[in-house]
Amino acid sequence: MIRIDRSVWEQMIGHCRLALPREACGALFGPKGDSGTPAVTFLSPIANRAKSPETEFAFDAKDWIYSLYEAERSNRQLLGIFHSHPMTSGTPSALDMAGASHNRLGYWIVSFARPEQPIVRVYRLEEAIGGSREFTPIPYSVI
Ligand SMILES: [Zn+2]
Repeated sequence: MIRIDRSVWEQMIGHCRLALPREACGALFGPKGDSGTPAVTFLSPIANRAKSPETEFAFDAKDWIYSLYEAERSNRQLLGIFHSHPMTSGTPSALDMAGASHNRLGYWIVSFARPEQPIVRVYRLEEAIGGSREFTPIPYSVI
């Protein structure tokens, strides 16, 4: 279970909508030392530097490092990363699987398959028995 502030939730969807028809991406943070259900309270947009931004995303290294630095300075911890799917559902793609390395983080996907009604899903990358990896959906609530 994870919680996300409504303002951050709206900011995430808005940021992704502005980037259409390309994928947008960014990082999500919450207060450090927060026990119990993690709560996302802050978003850092990160430029998408993928060669084919319509179908994939790659974090801009400078934006990414800066967002982590800012988080450290503001006593926030990294809770997840997000990106959008401009045309397809919120299911992680094969590229998402290949590129994912952040175990334990929430992996948020905003789908614009129906642009008037974007759908947000959250996954966590988990190692299955035998060493294969899979995205497990995790429940969340907008607060
Ligand atoms: Zn994706």
